[in-house]
Amino acid sequence: MSTANPKVALITGASRGIGAVIAQQLAKEGFAVVINYANSASEATALVTELREAGHQAIAVQANVANANDVARLFDETEQQLGKVDVLINNAGVLKVLPLAQHSDEDFEQTFNINTRGTFNTLREAATRLNSGGRIVNFSSSTVGMNLPGYAVYIASKAAVESLTHVFAKELRGRQITVNAVAPGPVATELFMHGKTEEQIEAFSKMPPLERLGQPQDIANIVSFLVSPAAAWVNGQVLRGNGGLV
Ligand code: NDP
Repeated sequence: MSTANPKVALITGASRGIGAVIAQQLAKEGFAVVINYANSASEATALVTELREAGHQAIAVQANVANANDVARLFDETEQQLGKVDVLINNAGVLKVLPLAQHSDEDFEQTFNINTRGTFNTLREAATRLNSGGRIVNFSSSTVGMNLPGYAVYIASKAAVESLTHVFAKELRGRQITVNAVAPGPVATELFMHGKTEEQIEAFSKMPPLERLGQPQDIANIVSFLVSPAAAWVNGQVLRGNGGLV
């Protein structure tokens, strides 16, 4: 790491998928990165090793974002090891595709606890702990604009994240912190691929006018913009990244 005191970026759910590529991108841009994960310890550790070998600062911290105590500890450990957080990326999320009528109480709770409460938990910590001039990027989904059957509970959990984004941006008045959300369309990760047939994946890939699935790097590029000085005047917005799907 060339900078003595690099800015600190905390990425939730960065062991795999989009979050891991965001961690790689922000590390390349000079951030010290915190790779949060819930279960995938070996993937998170491997990513830390890869980034350190490339000369970057990186740590992995296990924390279930749905648990407020875990999230407080996530910020504590970050501050102890790297310093106060400048950039918070609320990427951790889960998707269960299932008609509303077939959702169990546990399914509903899991989706809302991770996607919505998880975002609430980190935002609440960020309110007092983020450095002035910081950046927050939450994760919604373009499905909010599509109203696809089978996605009702997931979409509801992400629509709530969009509401948190709009209001929290205003509540941070005076702190010089922007709060935005990115809402990806289908991205080729485990979360999207799981349980889908080849035909379904092919159909999704043909939906956007750009006629392909999103890649994690497409979304990391949007996050990179939102945390950059170039996005200083973008605040309280939801940016859909989906090749023109919706
Ligand atoms: P993946 O399933 O590939 O990765 C999910 C990541 O979140 C993993 O690192 C996982 O960690 C972590 N995670 C899950 N639960 C928790 C938890 N309770 N606490 C902390 N971390 C957790 O998902 P994607 O990369 O595809 O998705 C990232 C975000 O993008 C999500 O918010 C998703 O809703 C959103 N999104 C994705 C789209 C897509 O098509 N892929 C489309 C629209 C939005 P671990 O492995 O340790 O469990």
